Amino acid sequence: MKIAVMTDPGKLEIREMEIPGFRKTEVLVKISAVGLCTWEQKFYKGIPGSYPFLGGHEISGVVEAVGKEVAQDIKKGDHVVVASLTRCGECYYCRRGLDNLCENTGIESKPEPGDLWGPGGFSEYFVAKGYEVYKISSDIELSIGTLAEPLACVIRSIDRSRIEFGDTAVVLGGGVMGMIHVLLAKYRGATVIVSEPDSSRRKKALSLGADYAVDPLNIDLVEFVKHRTKGRGAEAVLFTAGGKAAIEGGIKCLVQNGTMVIYGGTGSKDIISIDPKLFHYDEVCITGVTKHTKDTFRRAAELISHGKLPLNELISEEYPFDKIVEAFERAGAMDTFRVIVKM
Ligand SMILES: [Zn+2]
Ligand SMILES: [Zn+2]
Repeated sequence: MKIAVMTDPGKLEIREMEIPGFRKTEVLVKISAVGLCTWEQKFYKGIPGSYPFLGGHEISGVVEAVGKEVAQDIKKGDHVVVASLTRCGECYYCRRGLDNLCENTGIESKPEPGDLWGPGGFSEYFVAKGYEVYKISSDIELSIGTLAEPLACVIRSIDRSRIEFGDTAVVLGGGVMGMIHVLLAKYRGATVIVSEPDSSRRKKALSLGADYAVDPLNIDLVEFVKHRTKGRGAEAVLFTAGGKAAIEGGIKCLVQNGTMVIYGGTGSKDIISIDPKLFHYDEVCITGVTKHTKDTFRRAAELISHGKLPLNELISEEYPFDKIVEAFERAGAMDTFRVIVKM
């Protein structure tokens, strides 16, 4: 099989290797498509960087073979999405139902054994633990399946935001993650306001169902939100990008008892200070999320299977595997959302 190894920032080479063996509890998946997430793009740009690196964690494919002890009902030819994040099932967090925080989670070196590290999706075949594999409907394009991973993460974010019918939700940032927040917040019955400086992304947000899309550099977001909520503020603020300024502005958009979810990554310059009175008198909740759980991944696979969301709108371009360098070059551009590599 072929794998695409990142040997240095900006450098990928296609290598040949044997199709790996799999254990009784594992599933061999023939990969169909892989998304180029921001995380892999960081490696491509050289931040942080440990090489050689075998990226690819937004994976969909077709089952090639199933180990004898895999418990779920799955067979050769089934279409699947792969979580690509191992869970021990025994630590405190796994037992508490918070397997996204598993103390022994890891991206196993794929393929094993080898000098490569990384989730391993930039490959023609993938060995997954039984529990990492989720069946999806064969009516759904496998490219769309690559969005199961980000969707599973955003489901967690929307759950934490406690959005209810009739609420107002402010989404900060209009990248892929912002757009998935828009889709899910709408699906939960919220009026959605997107804050994003780029005009083409604002347009995209509106086409996906956002009620308003505003440029935070040109208007006062807090005033805008208050004006549209009878002076009160939004029940949910979902931070996906924008750093300190966006977070500070977002907190001011909250109604009393509202919730802000820090979903997106932040840098060392994004430290904020908060008056605790905001918690005491206004009952504001500021929380965050990381990764996905087995449960949110299961629900993401269901949403995808039933075609509930127009996720195809988030796939900008698709490249064949041998054009993975071109795919990476395009993935970082402002005018693209998710770029997919197809096997
Ligand atoms: Zn991802
Ligand atoms: Zn664990």
